[in-house]
Amino acid sequence: MNLAAPVTEADCGVVTEIAPGVRRVLAPNPGRMTGPGTNTYLVGYQRVVVIDPGPSVVSHVAALVAAVGGAQLEAIAVTHTHRDHSPAALALHNFTGAPRRGLLPRHLEHHDTSFVADLPTPDGTVLVTDAGSLRAIATPGHASNHLCWFHVETQLLFTGDHVLGTVSPVILPPDGDMTEYLDSLQRLRGLSARAIAPGHGPVLTDPEFALAALLRHRQTRERKIIGVLQSVPSEMDALVRSVYDDVDPALYGAARYTLLAHLLKLERDGRVKRCDDSWMLLP
Ligand SMILES: [Zn+2]
Repeated sequence: MNLAAPVTEADCGVVTEIAPGVRRVLAPNPGRMTGPGTNTYLVGYQRVVVIDPGPSVVSHVAALVAAVGGAQLEAIAVTHTHRDHSPAALALHNFTGAPRRGLLPRHLEHHDTSFVADLPTPDGTVLVTDAGSLRAIATPGHASNHLCWFHVETQLLFTGDHVLGTVSPVILPPDGDMTEYLDSLQRLRGLSARAIAPGHGPVLTDPEFALAALLRHRQTRERKIIGVLQSVPSEMDALVRSVYDDVDPALYGAARYTLLAHLLKLERDGRVKRCDDSWMLLP
């Protein structure tokens, strides 16, 4: 296995085999939220499934078509339909006729509305390739329609934006939901995955460590919110500055979404309530 292969912007368009029958192609969409770009994965040799075709960029679609080559494209699977993960599914579907597999979101904001699921893809759906099968695992939270894909043969877990390499995924209410996100992290802990292949960044070779660290991170952030509200009810702007005083202010836009997701969870848990523009702690 070549799990430790780095992924940088220089790898854009390069096909890297990371495990037997599993290849990665980096899309040309680097950015603050996408790191070096979106990882598109191909599983299989002559019967292939593409996972997260990525943005609809001509050079990226051409790289994927070339990587599939003369093989049969069995399915175009998505982890979710945010605009950096699924738009190229349309061009790839039009070019190959392969069915698109994935779920539709509860709320369309931030989603790629061009995505169509040609076949239903509920939790537990199995896609077959000649390098082993992929099983869909419903993991709502980052987005309501998020699926992880588990490659049974290599025990690689394709996590989309549910688990990322170097950053904590943003949760975007109302489609994203913190309670669901934490439940979905717990669900993956029982899977005994060997490694995590995320939607952005390099492969993570210690899944249990990564999942535990994410859970800890969210718990720490929640405690910090409660700590701030213990002293004074706060509006969102003040809360973002206090709760995220350890991050670059350039990230406050994304942080604000995740903060709201935390507050909505705490409201549901009966810990906080909203009064006009302020949030306060309940006794
Ligand atoms: Zn996403």
